[in-house]
Amino acid sequence: MLNENAYALGANRSCIRDLFEYGRRRAAVVGEENVYDYSLGNPSIPSPREVDDAIRAVLADTDSLLIHGYTSAVGDYDTRKAICGDLNLRYGAHTRPEEFFIGCGAAPELVAVFRALAVPQGEVLAIAPYFPEYQPFAQEAGLTFRVVPPDVPSFQIDLDKLGAMLTCHTQAVILNSPNNPSGVVYTRQTLTHLARLLTDKSREFGHPIYIVSDEPYRELAYGVEVPFVPEIYPNTVVCYSYSKSLSLPGERIGYVYVPRAAADSQALYAAIAGAARGAGHVCAPSLWQKVIARCAHLRPDLASYDRNRTELYLGLTAMGYEMAKPDGAFYLFIKAPGGDAQEFSQRAKEKDLLVVPGDGFGCPGYFRICYCVSYDTIRRSLPVFRELMEQYR
Ligand code: PLP
Repeated sequence: MLNENAYALGANRSCIRDLFEYGRRRAAVVGEENVYDYSLGNPSIPSPREVDDAIRAVLADTDSLLIHGYTSAVGDYDTRKAICGDLNLRYGAHTRPEEFFIGCGAAPELVAVFRALAVPQGEVLAIAPYFPEYQPFAQEAGLTFRVVPPDVPSFQIDLDKLGAMLTCHTQAVILNSPNNPSGVVYTRQTLTHLARLLTDKSREFGHPIYIVSDEPYRELAYGVEVPFVPEIYPNTVVCYSYSKSLSLPGERIGYVYVPRAAADSQALYAAIAGAARGAGHVCAPSLWQKVIARCAHLRPDLASYDRNRTELYLGLTAMGYEMAKPDGAFYLFIKAPGGDAQEFSQRAKEKDLLVVPGDGFGCPGYFRICYCVSYDTIRRSLPVFRELMEQYR
């Protein structure tokens, strides 16, 4: 006998993965350059040179047993100190190393936080459009997963709808800004109103409603402010990852930040560390902890993403495609001409243009494109987008 939920998750591949695998197969037939694959969010800018330099420096000046040994379960002190130093400098924050737990990227960090918050009847709210993996993460942790309808067309947060969904069982609201899949950055005004609402509701229900701020795209913003959420709402747990900011998705490194100003912060931190332990996810990769200790201050060079974004946004809107302004991450979330994103995605696939229907993101009728591809792919795919639009006129 097997666990049914685990089996279902493993046996049913995600639609994004299916499209990506299809693209690989097509590329073998028609040539790499003739497949316009916008399916998968794999960074296309190399890690900053300083990351490679840091690897060499760690290898040169650190005892090999230390490089490859177990670290403290919550992570090396020096790594946590470097991260908090960087945050304090950038945001005028007052973080301390004790408030950080080094994790293996945002995915297991989110799982640990959800497990820590999973009480009987506990609920977590995600705001559409949202990263599809939140649902299995929350449900496997034992939380009821509920979706706040999207705030169309801006894809900020519809606070009336969110407010109506808060109950005495709400343990947390998941935020993801810059957002996958919309590319939208929540404004300071949106976050301030959300904070006010959650403060009032926490008081009404007699327990804190936390924000779980999932931030793999924090550094990927194009000329707009990405506010530091704990500064606006102290009951925030940050799940950060270097997967996108330093183009290190295969290395599995990030952190959880639990501000000491958060309600029950010490117990919350202990519960997150305990949940990670229960999931067997402690001691993030030691070499990478030591690299991050030297690289916490680095930011990506966004020039090529920005060029792709601008070319696509201007090109597609001129053709009549509609989307919210993509100020961050590397995604555009576009209204499907004709209204049926599944159908649009299928028609696009027939032209070797791979785009992901928005159903899995909680937004049917939209499709996502992930523009971490070459500029050449962007230029050559634009006529295909035009042909598709013409089919709907
Ligand atoms: N959260 C969001 C919104 C993402 O887009 C991703 C990955 O694409 C993750 C979390 C998981 O990131 P990580 O590689 O850090 O586990």
